[in-house]
Amino acid sequence: MNEDIEKVLIAEEVIERRLDVIAERIRSDFAKEDSLQVVGILKGALVFMADLLRRVPLRLEIECLNVASYHGGTESSGQVDFLDVKLPEVKGRSVLVLDDILDTGRTLAAVSEKLYEMGARKVKTCVLLTKDKERAAEGEADYSAFEIGDEFVVGYGLDYDGKYRNLPYVGVLKESVIG
Ligand code: 5GP
Ligand code: MG
Repeated sequence: MNEDIEKVLIAEEVIERRLDVIAERIRSDFAKEDSLQVVGILKGALVFMADLLRRVPLRLEIECLNVASYHGGTESSGQVDFLDVKLPEVKGRSVLVLDDILDTGRTLAAVSEKLYEMGARKVKTCVLLTKDKERAAEGEADYSAFEIGDEFVVGYGLDYDGKYRNLPYVGVLKESVIG
């Protein structure tokens, strides 16, 4: 798997150190809330979620949402599909949405809108990566660990055609792999 990587963009130790900072910010921002509902966007947020949330010493409740916007390629399709039969109960609650990356911004915009429609009192967003580019949908994430250039990355939860999510770092694939 490692031989398919052209370059490592963000090393594992760098991610871990940064997660300590983001986790402390989340802890302090939500310390006064009675409860916090976390909603992770599958499957990209899986690795980020597990590593980040273990650093947040609050009584979190964790749910996941299955959302698709890429459909196998390396460009966002522009359409956000909710794949779950049943969505989490968020009425009157503070919700923190976690995703792997803010690209066009459509996913987080669609998910936040959906959660507000379902009666959430407050929705905040947190991503591992923010791509430095103009966004189709409005808004930046409330918490973002790293800003990267406008290129396709894999690892630490992010896939190419279903693979590479288990790489412990964020990297760029060799062109021969994307083909
Ligand atoms: P957005 O809706 O912000 O355009 O896209 C967000 C979703 O697109 C992310 O949750 C992620 O699944 C996917 N995505 C965006 N950029 C990348 C990328 O560089 N690599 C991978 N693997 N997925 C990406
Ligand atoms: Mg995703």
